[in-house]
Amino acid sequence: MRCRESDFEKIPGGVSRRDFLKVCTATAVYMGLPASIGPKIAEAATAAKKRPPVIWLSGQECTGCTETLLRSTHPTVENLILDLIALDYSETLNTGAGHQAEEYRAKSIEENKGKFILVVEGSIPVKDGGIYCKIAGKPVLEILKETAPKAAAVVAIGSCAAWGGVPSAGPNPTGATPAYKILEGTGIPVINIPGCPPNGYNFLSTVLYYVTFKKLPELDDKLRPKFAYGRLIHENCERRPHFDAGRFAEQFGDDGHRMGYCLYKLGCKGPETFNNCSTLRFNDMGTWPVNTGHPCFGCSEEGVGFNIPLHTPAEVKNVTPSAVQTPISVDHGGGGSAAAIGLAAGVAGAAIGAGAVALKKVGQEEKKQD
Ligand code: SF4
Ligand code: SF4
Repeated sequence: MRCRESDFEKIPGGVSRRDFLKVCTATAVYMGLPASIGPKIAEAATAAKKRPPVIWLSGQECTGCTETLLRSTHPTVENLILDLIALDYSETLNTGAGHQAEEYRAKSIEENKGKFILVVEGSIPVKDGGIYCKIAGKPVLEILKETAPKAAAVVAIGSCAAWGGVPSAGPNPTGATPAYKILEGTGIPVINIPGCPPNGYNFLSTVLYYVTFKKLPELDDKLRPKFAYGRLIHENCERRPHFDAGRFAEQFGDDGHRMGYCLYKLGCKGPETFNNCSTLRFNDMGTWPVNTGHPCFGCSEEGVGFNIPLHTPAEVKNVTPSAVQTPISVDHGGGGSAAAIGLAAGVAGAAIGAGAVALKKVGQEEKKQD
């Protein structure tokens, strides 16, 4: 991969200064920080003399987490991320290959000891000495153990890296293990951004937070950033009024399903999955599985996605009042817009929703101008 050592000569992501400031302000709100922190984030990101170097390791994975950043409908997310960091090594994106790429990885690690971010995508097989996933003839298990102590922090992106994901599903023939378990007891800071794939904005916000404050954001007991994984999907779901009123789709295609009723009885895992899909949504279009009529699979939650059968009813974790105050209407039960949800949400929900909507709006406005 071509080394890009340049200082910030322009606003990251090729967006206008005004739009970059909007993204940073929305990101601040989305992370639960005061909106006034937005300019500080923008200043930190543009004033950096050198972008934080990143080594991106791939274990047992499908490249979906990288693809989700690159294949977004609008270039904002990947452009911002790739302009904010110096991606020195990524097996998916390297232009160099073989010895050349490996030499460059070793050089970057030595030159940036204690300063680079190690991103891990995919789980790490530990069975039989880790022989089930090798890079340049070396088990990725060994590479992770050698590299992580030299990094400033480790970001485990996607469910496979964060808790094992698909490769760890029973009977887990390769001993697929999440990065944090391999590094347990070493004192190396690890942050998990689970999801299959995770939302690119959650990664972007984490990067912006790190660039601004030179530390990781506040994490929960599963090492996930609280700003993204602090609430259940169920708390901000537009179908929640139907759940509370006991109106459920019983089968795909039945009247309840067509009316936009709650998908709990079809196996929706929103009540036990901590993530912000119901507010942030995907594809810059405000879409997510539940508003297209499919239950949440719980892909980001350890022990739920790839563990509990898709249509098995979820365990309702904690029944808090709905953050969504959308009026219940049988005729219009198919789901509110992202903007409506942002407006209707409670205090915390509103902050998250508004940030999410603003983040997406920037992308949409630019798209119109293209
Ligand atoms: S069970 Fe699923 S569809 Fe129903 S309100 Fe909760 S998250 Fe939404
Ligand atoms: S809605 Fe559920 S299945 Fe879909 S990405 Fe979010 S957590 Fe995963």
